[in-house]
Amino acid sequence: MKCCFCCLLCIFLSFPLFPLKKYSRTGFSMGTVLTVQFFTEKRNGNILLDELFALASSYERLFSSKQTYGAVYQLNQKGGGVVDSQILSLLKEADYYYRFTGGAFDYGLYHLIELWHIETAEEPPLAAEVERMRQKSGAKLVEFSDDGTLTLKNGVQIDLGAIAKGEILGLLGEYLKQNSVNHFMINGGGDIVLSGLFNGKRVWNIALKDPFSNEGTVGYMGITDRTIVTSGSYERFFMDKQGVRYHHILSPETGYPVENGVHSVTVISSDPSKSDALSTALFVMGVEKGIPFVNTLKDVQAIFIGKNSDGEVWIRCSSGISYGKDEFGSPVFHFSGEDKILE
Ligand code: FAD
Ligand code: MG
Repeated sequence: MKCCFCCLLCIFLSFPLFPLKKYSRTGFSMGTVLTVQFFTEKRNGNILLDELFALASSYERLFSSKQTYGAVYQLNQKGGGVVDSQILSLLKEADYYYRFTGGAFDYGLYHLIELWHIETAEEPPLAAEVERMRQKSGAKLVEFSDDGTLTLKNGVQIDLGAIAKGEILGLLGEYLKQNSVNHFMINGGGDIVLSGLFNGKRVWNIALKDPFSNEGTVGYMGITDRTIVTSGSYERFFMDKQGVRYHHILSPETGYPVENGVHSVTVISSDPSKSDALSTALFVMGVEKGIPFVNTLKDVQAIFIGKNSDGEVWIRCSSGISYGKDEFGSPVFHFSGEDKILE
């Protein structure tokens, strides 16, 4: 009898006391659109949304190298020195991925990024200028000391743009979990952190953007408790007078935008900053080097989309993902093996 009562109590406690309510807000953060959506039985969701957007602004002030108020911007101006512990921790993580990817992910490219100024440029910079900035770029010039100080040698400057967005989205997710909100999607300019279930009922359906079409998608995936981050050449780019396209992901070796036939790389893992850093690195590595690299990693999957020199579009997935059709004939990405996350 006592046992029955315990079972009933457990069943009762595993259901929310109130029906789940949806909260959602879209704003602007980190130079892009930030959307937060969650489901909870709590009734203070709007207060949580206020707190989340305030938190996003405070992290943006910390990690921005673009705006003069950014702590990383100020660190660059000072040429290093004592570093805030949160910045130091992300810098060390960035340094790990710099080494781990053989320099494809390079957080020391600020001078080159500023020189190209993809957001407003109309013409590429002079080759001599690219070479001059390349000489004083690269994470190899960043030196960490045991006392938490940073030395920026040869005038090198830091840009955490290819890892900090993932980090911030992950921190926002942690804040929701600390407040007992477990069913959420946080989307910062197409980089997505997922937890729990949509409406507490089913996994999230995430569509993957077609890099060759303004509105189109190449397929969807049913997924949860993962982060999906895409690095692409189709949003931040300019076209010069000759019609040559220049985008924002730079080869640390040449100082020029990467041209290897890849147009987007989507990385899926359980760690937001890892997904972010690796999506940029894999874009730089290219598909032939990138797929075998990902296949050696646990908890990481990747989808590459590109175009051959004869104009043919291709999609290639790491070994844990297959690309097919669902029962209605719609293109779908399936997960298998250790990373089986599709319901
Ligand atoms: P990702 O592939 O994740 O990153 C590409 C970006 O990383 C490039 O734009 C460049 O900045 C840098 N990069 C290029 N090549 C490499 C490489 N080989 N290795 C490592 N990094 C590389 N954008 C604005 O327009 N205005 C802002 O005020 C602004 N503020 C921001 C503040 C913060 C804290 C963050 C995190 C981002 C901000 N951004 C802003 C956006 C930022 O500049 C990048 O465009 C964005 O973070 C890149 O993300 P992505 O997903 O587009 O591409
Ligand atoms: Mg990235």
